[in-house]
Amino acid sequence: MGGGISGLACARGILDQAPSTEVLVLEAGTEPGGPVRTERAEGFVCEVGPHGFLNADPSALDLAKRLGLEDRLLFPDEARRGRFIFLGGRLRAFPDRPLRFLTSDLLSVWGRARVLLEPLLPLDPPRGDESVGAFARRRLGREAAERLIDPLVCGIYGGDMDRLSLASSTPQFAGLARRSRSLVVAAVRMVRAHASVAGGSTRLHQRRLVSFVGGIGELVRGLVDSLGTVVECNAPVTGLARHGGGWRVTIGGAHPRQLLADTVISALPAPAARPLLGPLDPELARALGSIGFLPAAVVALGLRREDVAHRLDGFGYLVPRAEGGSVLGVLWSSSMFPGHRSPEGTVLVQAILGGARQPDICEQSDAWLEEQVCGQLRRAIALRGAPVFRRIYRHRPGLPQYEVGHQARVAAVEAAELRLPGLFITGNALRGIGINACTVDAGKLVTRVLGRLAQPNVPAAAAATA
Ligand SMILES: Cc1cc2nc3c(=O)[nH]c(=O)nc-3n(C[C@H](O)[C@H](O)[C@H](O)COP(=O)(O)OP(=O)(O)OC[C@H]3O[C@@H](n4cnc5c(N)ncnc54)[C@H](O)[C@@H]3O)c2cc1C
Repeated sequence: MGGGISGLACARGILDQAPSTEVLVLEAGTEPGGPVRTERAEGFVCEVGPHGFLNADPSALDLAKRLGLEDRLLFPDEARRGRFIFLGGRLRAFPDRPLRFLTSDLLSVWGRARVLLEPLLPLDPPRGDESVGAFARRRLGREAAERLIDPLVCGIYGGDMDRLSLASSTPQFAGLARRSRSLVVAAVRMVRAHASVAGGSTRLHQRRLVSFVGGIGELVRGLVDSLGTVVECNAPVTGLARHGGGWRVTIGGAHPRQLLADTVISALPAPAARPLLGPLDPELARALGSIGFLPAAVVALGLRREDVAHRLDGFGYLVPRAEGGSVLGVLWSSSMFPGHRSPEGTVLVQAILGGARQPDICEQSDAWLEEQVCGQLRRAIALRGAPVFRRIYRHRPGLPQYEVGHQARVAAVEAAELRLPGLFITGNALRGIGINACTVDAGKLVTRVLGRLAQPNVPAAAAATA
């Protein structure tokens, strides 16, 4: 159930390893891929949701290569990788080197001194399942938490750092905090290690943003083309019940019917999974019901280059909560991938709005959303004139929120899976929100599914993924 990147990657993984398995991906929408979609119009290449994935682990990149997309890979222009924070009515460079931090105007002198004091503070690792905000304030001080950490967290989850779990939503940061005596010292070491990797002196794996010449939608297109008739759109699952040792799946939509499957994979957003899976197990219902999602909107605007005074020499900027407004951040798509995202003489910027800042964002009109972004761009990059191109995308239920207590919710989902043999649950609500995290989780799930199918009492040709 679910033809987003998680469901599609599960189907591909099963068929790669056990080609004789009967697999069906049931997708409620008219198109697969969830937010991973690219729209091309009037020479602009707009991302409906994600701009790419971070290859923190090689999973998604390997998938792309297996799909024959190696020639289509596109990496951002590293020479322009600067990022900015909109603070006090103007853009300020996010310091990417320790020395630049000392001279940066992002924090006051006291704010910088407070960060530099951190290595001298008594050892104080994360306290249980602590929120990102509480931990950041304690270790780095209020100013750094609100001006640096809040916008970074908002840029990924659209959420509230005081509610998001440090361990679940920023596991690398949490690991760093547990392993190192000082976050600042560990961060400096990491930056140095990255610098030496970039300099070619070591062959360590380097985290990079990865996209495709024609946009991130190429990944979904490649998956769907390789899966062929395995993917069925306009096929919402409306019911799921145990049937003998397997499952009876009820499908609504254009071709309502029921089918029997030995194995069912739920790759649905938690709000869609809960009404289907909840009746099977009250603990599962509780766990899925307590994973919140926040809606988001993406506004893509094509601008005449001459109407923008700023050099746009970076990937874009984030907006801390204290600045107000509903814009979480703006990506300068045509600076990230020059020559690939907008026609000559124009630039493409894409803003993301909503999340915890404005949960009713999807209810706002197109005109209102565009004006919010234009108002923000007038202040940040000195935009004059009106956009020459616009596209607006709404995301419901939007982005999952790994709030404090998330680990216990995931454990409850995993315990319920053991009580429901033949049902497997994945998707971005559980163990990672990024595309790469979804393909990593799909890969692990495929191993478990194939383990079940290999059991002697299970018919080998009957796995329904969804
Ligand atoms: C605006 C935005 C920007 C993002 N930016 C990035 C980024 O830059 N980098 C990155 O790595 N990640 C990014 N993400 C996150 C990433 O795109 C998602 O977490 C990921 O695509 C989720 O994939 P999924 O398959 O788990 O879920 P989904 O893509 O939500 O797939 C679930 C599918 O289930 C379907 N469905 C729902 N109910 C039913 C039903 N009853 N029966 C059948 N099908 C059903 C839905 O239609 C949907 O297609 C972004 C997300 C958004 C919204």
